[in-house]
Amino acid sequence: MTKVIRADQAGITLAVEALRRGDVIGLPTETVYGLAGDLSNVAALRRIFAVKGRPHDHPLIVHIAETQQLDALAADVSDACRVLVEQCWPGPLTVIVRAAKSVSRIATGGRDTVAVRVPAHLVARAVITELGSPLAAPSANRFGRVSPTLAHHVARDLGDDVAVVLDGGPCDIGVESTIVDCTLAQPQILRPGAITHDEVRRILATAAVTLADHVTGPSRASGMLERHYAPAACLVLHEQASEVPTDGFPVLDCASDPVQAAHGLYASLRAFDDADVSTVHVLLPRAEGLGYALRDRLSKAAAAH
Ligand code: AMP
Ligand code: MG
Repeated sequence: MTKVIRADQAGITLAVEALRRGDVIGLPTETVYGLAGDLSNVAALRRIFAVKGRPHDHPLIVHIAETQQLDALAADVSDACRVLVEQCWPGPLTVIVRAAKSVSRIATGGRDTVAVRVPAHLVARAVITELGSPLAAPSANRFGRVSPTLAHHVARDLGDDVAVVLDGGPCDIGVESTIVDCTLAQPQILRPGAITHDEVRRILATAAVTLADHVTGPSRASGMLERHYAPAACLVLHEQASEVPTDGFPVLDCASDPVQAAHGLYASLRAFDDADVSTVHVLLPRAEGLGYALRDRLSKAAAAH
């Protein structure tokens, strides 16, 4: 059985020992649980891809404990990127920058760019600091499936494939980080998250930089694949409460309180699957603020069927 351990000092030390052996662990963050391995250990990086069943060209997010560690990973950091990370870190913002030569191309999926963030979760930062190396960590689910927001989700999904799962309680936010590509003159949001478009736009404006409007061209972030975050149940999406049929299938209201809906989204989808529910009616939030990220995840989860 996978060991789910309390994220106290003893637990953190155990987790760091596992990482030093090249094992992968379940790690709490404020967004979702991560499947973390030591960035400096090639075997650990390969293990992350193997455990997730993730294609090798899908890059991993590198997690660091302090903003200044970005410079060791990046070949260059634009002014716009600096402003963003100064305002948003620690927090649910991932920036894509040109990668330093020292960054493993296994972690970057073979690209010359790297995705980096400082998580707000104290346990995640404590593990990185005690290890003394950045962690590569995608979400701790099998490829294409629903992300975990509780320690036992990770233990159930990945079983003995992870050495330990550090239990840091439920993830505060519940959806993955906002990803901003900062390699472009006009930064672009590749994945919406809790740091909203408006926030990114407002912060960039202080550096006289504009945010590119829409993501164009081929998918550059794996979360942008059409089929993703997929539960077994079929999700039927509705814009208006009046559209939701009273046909006996459960209703997931994401409109009344989008923050709470994001917090509980993945646990709800998992609970529907556990109960063998075939269809769920979803009342969508408005396309604003966190509602934008919720709509993104829900439309991908719905596209699976
Ligand atoms: P996950 O770890 O499951 O939250 O997914 C990580 C996300 O970051 C995926 O959508 C990746 O494709 C994206 N990502 C990581 N590195 C890069 C990069 N260098 N360029 C574009 N997207 C990236
Ligand atoms: Mg993921």
